[in-house]
Amino acid sequence: MNIPFYNLKSTHKPLKKEFLEATKRAISNNDYILGKSVSNFEKKFADYCETKHAIGVGSGLDALKISLKALNIEKNDEVIVPANTYIATWLAVSELGAIPKAVDAEINSMNIDIAKIENSITHKTKAIIPVHMYGQMCDMDAITALSKKHKIHIIEDFAQAHGAIYKNKKAGSWGHVNATSFYPGKNLGALGDAGAITTNSDIIAERVKMIRNYGSKEKYKHELKGINSRLDSIQAAYLEIKLKHLDTWNKERTNIVALYKKHLKEIEEIAFQEEIPQGKSAYHLFVLRAKNRDKLQLSLKEKGIGTLIHYPIPPHMQKAYIEFKNERFPITENIASNSISLPLYPGIKEKEIKYISKAIRLFYTKKS
Ligand SMILES: *Cc1c(COP(=O)(O)O)cnc(C)c1O
Repeated sequence: MNIPFYNLKSTHKPLKKEFLEATKRAISNNDYILGKSVSNFEKKFADYCETKHAIGVGSGLDALKISLKALNIEKNDEVIVPANTYIATWLAVSELGAIPKAVDAEINSMNIDIAKIENSITHKTKAIIPVHMYGQMCDMDAITALSKKHKIHIIEDFAQAHGAIYKNKKAGSWGHVNATSFYPGKNLGALGDAGAITTNSDIIAERVKMIRNYGSKEKYKHELKGINSRLDSIQAAYLEIKLKHLDTWNKERTNIVALYKKHLKEIEEIAFQEEIPQGKSAYHLFVLRAKNRDKLQLSLKEKGIGTLIHYPIPPHMQKAYIEFKNERFPITENIASNSISLPLYPGIKEKEIKYISKAIRLFYTKKS
């Protein structure tokens, strides 16, 4: 068998006709940047996230940067970030000249360790960026309480958590302003780069709209030093088509993870991401912590099974963050050396999940 880590074919093939019609429509209407299809998608995505506003931008990284800018985060301000995240979360902070203050992960949830956040808050701290890793929500009650106590803003990075829920409230509706990505491999992905910002604040929404478009509300009048990060109309049209299926796809992801857990149960050498009882994951990635991870990955590869590591080198160990070379985040480093992500996408077949699970079981029975 040959099972790739990720495959968009089964989600995109049935939608091809709609994609082509949307493309033709954009050309006939001369609608390429912002415009009607962007505002239509923004309205639908805001409804989906249960927020007052959604604003489309060029990428997830830009969504984070613009969110920080909209909150007036600037040089030397400190922003709390998880050590266990994709580097984009950190880079957005650094690009504004602000300082990422990393907090280690908690091993079972693999999300930011709530107990360690307060120690990292100083008088310079302006915001915290919780990242819902692999689709599972952070403990938003605890983070909200810390935000109130220390008067710092919350910016959710919900790039991996479209549709995830914490206590009946969606990912992307908890922070003051929230950022997400529609990179093609995310639960809701464009057919290229795209991202969005959600907020319930009219003032922040207004600022975000200006910042993404050269700081301008009215053509050739610039109130802020903005950037160019507009959502393409064609991508917005594709996203609107795909958004209708997101809940169905997330349900399928939920079933796939349940199947994996059934077929992988009672293997002592592996552990799953522990699920918080007050939340519902979007199951973006199925990440195991596994003994002999590198050998397991190789053995799966030999059987035609594609896997990835999320992420093999944490931000603080990257050359780009040389200033962190003496800082240690042991849980994050543990996740980097011991975790492995298995294939998880709508369209993967039960027999493929069985095949993968059997290969893992066999790897460990042979070893011991
Ligand atoms: C994908 C991702 C991003 C970045 O999104 P891009 O659209 O690639 O810029 C940011 N944060 C997290 C947690 C992500 O997974």
